[in-house]
Amino acid sequence: MRQYLDVKDRHPTAIIFFRLGDFYEMFFEDAVVASRLLDLTLTTRDKGKDDAVPMCGVPHHASRGYVAKLTELGHTVVMCEQVEDPKLAKGLVKREVVRIVTPGIVLDDEVLDPKRPRYVAAIVVDKVTKDKVGLAYLDATTGELCATELPLAAVHDELVRVAPREILAEDPTKAPLAQLRARLATAVRAPWNIAPEIADGRAELRGLALTASYARPAEAGPLAVRAAAMALAYARATQPTGALPISTLRLYEPADAVVLDEAAIANLELTETLIGKHAEGSLLDVIDDTVTAPGARRLRRWLLYPLVDVPQIRRRQDAVAWLVERGELAESIRRVLAKTADLERLAGKCTLGIATPRDLGRLRDALVELPALVALVRSGQNSLTGLPEPLDLKACLVAALPALAARLAAALVDEVPALLKDGGVIRTGRDPVVDECRRLADGGKDEILAIEAHEQEATGIASLKVRYNRVFGYYIEVTKTHLAKVPAHFIRKQTIANGERYVTAALAKLEARVVAAEETLATREAELVKAEVVACADAAPQIAAAGAALAGLDACGSLASIAARRNYCRPIVDSGYVLDIVDGRHPVIEAMLPPGTFVPNDCHLDPAAEQLVLVTGPNMAGKSTYMRQVAQIALLAQIGGFVPARSATVGVCDRVFTRVGAADNLSRGDSTFMVEMRETSSILAKATRRSLVILDEVGRGTSTFDGVSIAWAVAEHLHDAIACRTLFATHYHELVALADSRPRVRNLSVAVREHKGEIVFLRRVVAGGANKSYGIDVARLAGLPTKVVSRARQIMAQLEGGASLGSTPQLSLLPTAAPSPVVARLAALDIDRTTPLEALQLLAELKSLV
Ligand code: ADP
Ligand code: MG
Repeated sequence: MRQYLDVKDRHPTAIIFFRLGDFYEMFFEDAVVASRLLDLTLTTRDKGKDDAVPMCGVPHHASRGYVAKLTELGHTVVMCEQVEDPKLAKGLVKREVVRIVTPGIVLDDEVLDPKRPRYVAAIVVDKVTKDKVGLAYLDATTGELCATELPLAAVHDELVRVAPREILAEDPTKAPLAQLRARLATAVRAPWNIAPEIADGRAELRGLALTASYARPAEAGPLAVRAAAMALAYARATQPTGALPISTLRLYEPADAVVLDEAAIANLELTETLIGKHAEGSLLDVIDDTVTAPGARRLRRWLLYPLVDVPQIRRRQDAVAWLVERGELAESIRRVLAKTADLERLAGKCTLGIATPRDLGRLRDALVELPALVALVRSGQNSLTGLPEPLDLKACLVAALPALAARLAAALVDEVPALLKDGGVIRTGRDPVVDECRRLADGGKDEILAIEAHEQEATGIASLKVRYNRVFGYYIEVTKTHLAKVPAHFIRKQTIANGERYVTAALAKLEARVVAAEETLATREAELVKAEVVACADAAPQIAAAGAALAGLDACGSLASIAARRNYCRPIVDSGYVLDIVDGRHPVIEAMLPPGTFVPNDCHLDPAAEQLVLVTGPNMAGKSTYMRQVAQIALLAQIGGFVPARSATVGVCDRVFTRVGAADNLSRGDSTFMVEMRETSSILAKATRRSLVILDEVGRGTSTFDGVSIAWAVAEHLHDAIACRTLFATHYHELVALADSRPRVRNLSVAVREHKGEIVFLRRVVAGGANKSYGIDVARLAGLPTKVVSRARQIMAQLEGGASLGSTPQLSLLPTAAPSPVVARLAALDIDRTTPLEALQLLAELKSLV
C-alpha cells in the first residue's frame, strides 16, 4: 500500500493499474469508479475491518480492453508494473510506472482509428494580453507535432477542426479559458506534470527540426513554442521507458489554409453528416478512395485545411491530373501502394519500442515494395520534365530502407507470428543459438517418442503412453489393468481414475534439457527481435519520411480515382475573385442518387458585377443543395482536387462561411435563434472581400417581419460593406426587391412548375426571383388536411391584401388571440345612454387602459 499510495500521490487524477502477480488491482476511489465503469466486482481488502479498502482487479492478460474502455471514457490510466522477478526479489517487489495511457495518447491498434490521427492538444494563453493563444497538437503514434498562434476568439474553431481527444491548459477553470472550456465537447485539464522549466519551452524542444510557413522560423511566436513544449513534455511523461517518434515541429499560421469555422465544417458536412454525425455520407467519405491508412489521414487533413496558395494548389492538381491521364498505370500504382501498410505508425512503434514481431513483418513486406513502386511511378514519365512534385518519391529510395528490408527478411520467418510469446519468429539459419536450441527442443521430442517405444517394449504394456502437462511436464501413463507390469524404476507421481502416472530418470533428464532449450530459445528470440526493433528505430525517421511521401501519393491517387469514376473536371484555380461553375453537381447527393438523375446547375459569382446572388424558391426546391455544392466545389478545387462540374474557375477563397438557419443547438443551452444570430455576426465581423459566404435561410428562427428585416439588412451589409462573394438563400421572396436598389445583387430561383394544381420540382436554377413562396403548396404535399390548407390560403390572401413590405405592416390583419380591453369596453358602450360627463370619464379610463 505504501508503494501504491506513492504512485497515487504522483498521479492523483489518474486511475492506477497496480500490478499484483497476475492481476492489475485498483484501490480506494479508483476501484469504486472503475468497478462501475468496467462492470467489475467491487470487493475489499482486509474485509470486516473498519478501514477496509475497496478494491477491484482485472487479469493482466485481459487488461488491454479495460484500459481502452477507461481512456475512451476520458480517464487516464497509469500502468504500474513489477519491474523485478518476484522469485528473485528480496522483500517487496519493486514496482514502477512504465506507461501512462491518456485519452489523447493511446498507442493500442485496437483502439486507434487507422484513418484518423489521435491528437492531444495544448493551449497557452498570453499572461499579459489574455487574448493571444498558442495552440499545439501532437499525435504520439506518428510523431506529428504542429503549433500556431491565434487570437483567443479563434481557438474554438481551430480546436473543432483539429478534434483532439484531450486538451491541456494551465488553469482551465479560470478566465479566460473557462468560457472556451464550456463550449468544447472535449475536456480541458491541467497536465499533471507542468514544471516551471518548460515555461519558456526552448529546452523541451531542443533537438527538433523546425519547419514553418513563416519566412523566418526563428520569429515563431513564443506562445506557439510554449504550447508545443507543453504537449511534448506531457507526451514524454507518458512514456517513461520509451522515446517518442517526434523529430519535427511544424509551425503554421491560420492564414496558410482556408479558414473554416465550426459551422462551416458542420454545415458543409466535410467529415461527418449534420444529422446523426455519421462519417458515411460526408464529403470526405465520398472523395476517400485511398488504399492506405496514412493516405486516408492525409486526405482528411487536406480537406480540413484547403490551400490558399495558388502555385501549391496547382502542384497538387498536376499530380492528380497526371494520374487521371494514366488511368491504368494509376490503378497499378494503387495496387502496390495498398501493400505498404501504415509506414508512419509502424515507424512510430519502432521508436516507442512497442513494435510486435508482426509489425516487423509488415514493415518488411512494405519496405520490399518500395523500389518497384517508385519504378512504376517513374515508368509513367517518359518526357524530360520531372514528375509533379507530390509524386516525387525520393524519400522512398534512401539507402537505409532496402538495407533494413534485407535485414528484416534475413532475420524473420516468412509468416511472422503475431506475438513474441508465440515463438518461431526468427528464421532458421540466422542465429546459431536459436538453431541449436530448436534442434535440442525438437530432437528432445523425438527422443521422447523413442523412450515411449522403448518402455512399451520393455514392459510389454502396449498402451503405455508418454504424455505432457504443465504441472508435471513429461510423464508415463499406465492404465489400471497393467499396473502389475510396472517396473521398479518408474517413480509414481499421481493416481488418476483409471491408472497411474510415473516419471523415470531418463525422462526427467530429457525433459530438463528440452525445457532448458525452450527457455533459452525464447530468451534468445526476444533478444534478437529487440535488436531488430532497435535497428528499425534507427531508421524510423527515414521510414516515416517514406510513409509521408506515400501518404501524399495515396491521397492524390484517391482524388484521381474519384475524378475518373465520377466524371469530375480539373478546375482553373487562380488569384482572381471570380467563382464560375458550369453544370456543377453536389458530390454527395449525386453519389446517392441513381446515375444521371442529379440535375446540374451553373453558378457565377463575381464581385464586380454579380457579387450577391439571392436564391429564392419554395422549400424542398433545392436551394440548400445548390449552395452547398458551390462551397464544396470551391473547397475541392482548393485541396487540388477535381470537381463535379463540366468546367469551373475558382478564384481562391480565404475563408468559407456557411450559415444554415434553424439548426437546433439546444444542448448547449442557446436558443436556435441566438446561435443563428451569433454565427451571422461572426461572419459579418470576419469575412473579407476574398471570402465565400453561404447564408441559408438566415432569419428563419424568428417571426416573419423580424426575419425578413434581418435578412434584408444582412444582405445589404454583405453587399455594401464587405463585397464578398455571397449566396443567400431565402424563402422570403420579398427580398428579391433588393436587386432594384443594389447594383451587384442578382436574383436566381430554383424553378418549380405548377401542373394541375400540383407543384413539380424541376431542380433547375433559373434567372429571376421567385414571386411566391409556395409554402402552402409544400404543406399540402406534406399531407396537411384540405380544410387547414384552404383556410391557410384564405389567411394568406388577407395578409397579402393588407400587409406588404413596402407599406407599413398592418398588424391588425394578423389574427390575434383576444380583443383588447379597450375594444371590449368600446363595444359594450351604448352612446345614446351616455352623458357628456360620463363620456369624459370614459375617455380618461380608456386612456389609462392604453
Ligand atoms: P431547399 O433548401 O430549397 O428546401 P434542398 O436543397 O434541401 O431544398 O433540396 C431538397 C431535396 O431535393 C434534396 O434532399 C435532394 O434530394 C433534392 N435535390 C436538390 N437539388 C437537386 C438536384 N439538383 N438534382 C436532384 N435532386 C435534387
Ligand atoms: Mg434549405
